[in-house]
Amino acid sequence: MTSVLWFQGGACSGNTMSFINAAEPSVVDLIVDYGLEIVYHPTLSMEIGQAAQDIFWAYAKGEKEIDIFVFEGTVIEGPNGTGRYDMFAGRPMKDWVDDIAPRAGIVVAIGDCATWGGLPAVPPNPSESRGMQFDRGGKRGGHLGEGFVSRLGLPVINIPGCPAHPDWISQIIVALAAGRVADIGLDEFQRPTTFFTSFTQTGCTRVQFYNYKQDPKSFGQGMRTGCLFYEFGCRGPMTHSPCNRILWNRQSSKTRAGHPCTGCTEPGYPFGDLNPGTVFKTQKVAGVIPKDEPAGMDAGSYMALAGLSRAVAPQWSKEDMFVV
Ligand code: SF4
Ligand code: SF4
Repeated sequence: MTSVLWFQGGACSGNTMSFINAAEPSVVDLIVDYGLEIVYHPTLSMEIGQAAQDIFWAYAKGEKEIDIFVFEGTVIEGPNGTGRYDMFAGRPMKDWVDDIAPRAGIVVAIGDCATWGGLPAVPPNPSESRGMQFDRGGKRGGHLGEGFVSRLGLPVINIPGCPAHPDWISQIIVALAAGRVADIGLDEFQRPTTFFTSFTQTGCTRVQFYNYKQDPKSFGQGMRTGCLFYEFGCRGPMTHSPCNRILWNRQSSKTRAGHPCTGCTEPGYPFGDLNPGTVFKTQKVAGVIPKDEPAGMDAGSYMALAGLSRAVAPQWSKEDMFVV
């Protein structure tokens, strides 16, 4: 049996919703086939009041050992570092985190808020929200600190996303429960490389339009044609996620449905100044050069490639090729 304790800090429960929707494997599979013992989850557990507190204190005091401690949401430190904006079971949630995380075998941060603060950490950040081991923008530290390691000597394993895809969560938990933690490579932001090495663009059905620099003419138009990078702010070429390889609901993704990738698996999310009209619009310098180029490109090589691509674009790249 692998014991799992799941707590929520400053969260919307989106990652819990995602987890419950997992399909390969499902939550039932995790329990029945993989021997997971969910000792507490705020949505799934029956325990309340003193019964729940008894469970928490047993892990906080080290009377019992937890194998996997999952944290969803930000660690709220406000007001003034007290954490009292987020009281849970009689004390600030951040104090539960401080007691339990170092005693847990493995600590997993699920979703952007837990990984690097997400939306709540956007300035002015009135709740003083922080990620578990990173702060907004990917700065090492977070609430637990740069040098934090769990009982097994591991840093926090980050599964970002807003929310994280159901199967990213359940597959990593299965790998950890199966004792395959050594097989999980982590990148510079402590994300499992198996999910966060390729780009959202990898597998996008609009790549042929990206190649020839063709875009839909207006937002929401062209559900099947055009690439959303040039005018509509798609961050698919610089966002590490498998959203077009491990599809959502097993059938689609944002970009396939005509919605730009907003880069939710990266520590800078949400990007831009968030003023009305800026989110789904490619931000440009001098009205021509995208502020953020595709990963690995500089402005000069991007402009040269884009100019050439558009110049040689064949007629088919300007048309809807998905004729049903
Ligand atoms: S829509 Fe986005 S992910 Fe798809 S090809 Fe264009 S830039 Fe890449
Ligand atoms: S497509 Fe982009 S914004 Fe949407 S879930 Fe994937 S990484 Fe996040």
